[in-house]
This record gives sequence, structure tokens and C-alpha cells, in this order.
Amino acid sequence: MVEEFHGYAAFDKKSVLKYYSYTPKPLGDEDIEVEITHCGICGSDLHTMRSDWRPTLYPAILGHEIVGNVLEIGSKVVDFKIGNRVGIGCQVYSCGNCDECNSGYEQLCAKKVFTYNDMWKDAEGVPTEYQAQGGYADKIRAHSSFVFHIPTEISSAEACPLLCAGLSTFAPLKRHNVGPKSKVGIAGIGGLGHLAIQWAAKMKAEVTAISHSSQKRDEAIKLGATHFLDILDPNDVEKFTHSQDIILSTSCSSNTDWSKYMNFIKNHGTLILIGLPEAPLQIPVFAFMRFVKVEGSLTGGRQDIKDMLTFAAKHNVRPWIQIVPMKDVNEGIKSVLNGEARYRVVLEN
Ligand SMILES: [Zn+2]
Ligand SMILES: [Zn+2]
Repeated sequence: MVEEFHGYAAFDKKSVLKYYSYTPKPLGDEDIEVEITHCGICGSDLHTMRSDWRPTLYPAILGHEIVGNVLEIGSKVVDFKIGNRVGIGCQVYSCGNCDECNSGYEQLCAKKVFTYNDMWKDAEGVPTEYQAQGGYADKIRAHSSFVFHIPTEISSAEACPLLCAGLSTFAPLKRHNVGPKSKVGIAGIGGLGHLAIQWAAKMKAEVTAISHSSQKRDEAIKLGATHFLDILDPNDVEKFTHSQDIILSTSCSSNTDWSKYMNFIKNHGTLILIGLPEAPLQIPVFAFMRFVKVEGSLTGGRQDIKDMLTFAAKHNVRPWIQIVPMKDVNEGIKSVLNGEARYRVVLEN
């Protein structure tokens, strides 16, 4: 009997998602099969749906903020039992044996397999015939090293956005040892930023929320920000000059004035980009003469995911979510595209 999984797939750049069945990769000795209960909608899903970053492998089932229950385990899986509540994020495999894997940067492994828009690879890293398909579906298979236990304190729906948006904002703050003496600016208060503010505040940093939209002031303070910097207010721009150790930018806007952001950063500080604007950055070279650095950050490694989930459970960091039935996935996508979602949409089977 040919096995089939079912989900909602993009078939081209423009159309809405449609019901789709596919043959999953065979369950390997170290793999886990998960029955999906919830999956978050991430901005990356929508970029992939429209082939914004590179040509997408259609039909593509999106979704990399996946929570569900273990349905089957391979013969060599030790840390999981059937019925366990687990999560899967942006990748489903890495080699576990290269320099990047050995230093906790599995997301940079040359043999990694992304959760969707990728092909499963054999042991030599050669693509197989099996396409990796994401979480807007009934089931998924992943290597057990990319399946994570969800702490009991965190609901399944709330766990979803933590697996990408949460990880992407937590990992760079952890890497920079953010703590009680840190001054951290979070630029952009949306799906990523509303989690970033919470992490930094719970790490006891002095947090400045940076936004174009002064209506977000109250929400930013509620999320844990100490200050609100209205980037359109010249008094604020003056007041916050050279004030931040780190600015974490979640902005995807190509109109961002990066020189303004650089000016908010202290000497030796760092601008960390996790949003992906399509236009190249324009930064006057003088900003770098104060030893200010610019770096990017992509999701996080396995240990980052474990640390993030533990931290969220302990410090009560939760995404603000709206739950939509899986069958209404196209409605959910619309509300994300319109910018109506406050702040993340989670699909429920
Ligand atoms: Zn994502
Ligand atoms: Zn590797």
C-alpha cells in the first residue's frame, strides 16, 4: 500500500492553497512521524508561497511551526515515545557531524533539510525523490534530532510560533549574553518583535521598543519594554543617540533608514538583522568607525531550541495568537498578508 499524507499546498505563485496528497519519505530508523494538531503561519511561508526568495518547488505544503503527537518512531529512536507531544521547527535534518553541527549551528549544515521547499537527501547529501513538505497537513516525518518535547506549561497552539519566530528572536539575544546590564532595542513590533521584547525583558535587559507607529506604544510597554522610541519623532531620535548595546531588527521593509538605527547603537555595539528586506542595505561607512558591527542571524540550532522552550516555560513568555481551523488556511494567510494578525496565526486540525 502506498502511504499518503494530506495537506494544503501552493501550486504556483498566485493561487490560493489547495488540498493535496503526497507520498512521504519512508520512516528511517532515526525518524519520527508526527500527527499534526497545530501549525503556525510564518512570514517565510508566504514568501515561499510566492517564490519571493528563490523558485519554490511546487506543489509546496508550507508551515514550519509544527506541534502534534508522536504517531510512529524508527527502531533507533530513544528519547521519544508514541503519544508524546512534540514540536518541529524550520528544519528536519542535519548531518550531526560537520563543523557547523558540532558547534550548534545545525541551521548552516551543508546537508541540512529544511522543513519544506527542500528535498530529502541521502547519507552523501544527494537529493532523493522525496520532497520535504511542511505542517499545513495531517502528518509529517522528521529526523528525531529535530523533534522537540514541548514543556507541559505551554499550550500546543502557543508553542507553534515559538518554534520559528520565538527561536529566531531568542537565539541572537542568548548568543550576545543579554542580561541585567544590557540595553537592547527591538525594532519592529509584530510577529517577531512582540516575542523579542518579551525575551529581552525577561533576561532583565533595559528594553527599548522601536517603531514607526506610536499606536504600538501601549502594547510594547505591556510586553515588557521600558522605553518606546518613535522613529518619526525627532526628539526621540536625538534622545536615543548612541544608547543601545544591541538593536535586533525584525523589519522587512526595504525603506528602512539603517543609518538612523546605526546612530542609536553605542560604540562597539551590534545591529542584528533577523528580518529580510529585499533591497541591499545602505549604511554610511562612518557608522562602522565607531566599531559598530552588523550581523545577520538565521533561526537557531538544536540547543537554542531546547533552551528557548525551557526559558519560555520558566519565564512565561508566550506569543499572542489567533487560532484558525486548518481547513480555513487561506483565510488565515489573508489575515497575515493584510497585517491584521495580532500577532501570529495558528492553524488547528
Ligand atoms: Zn518561520
Ligand atoms: Zn552538519
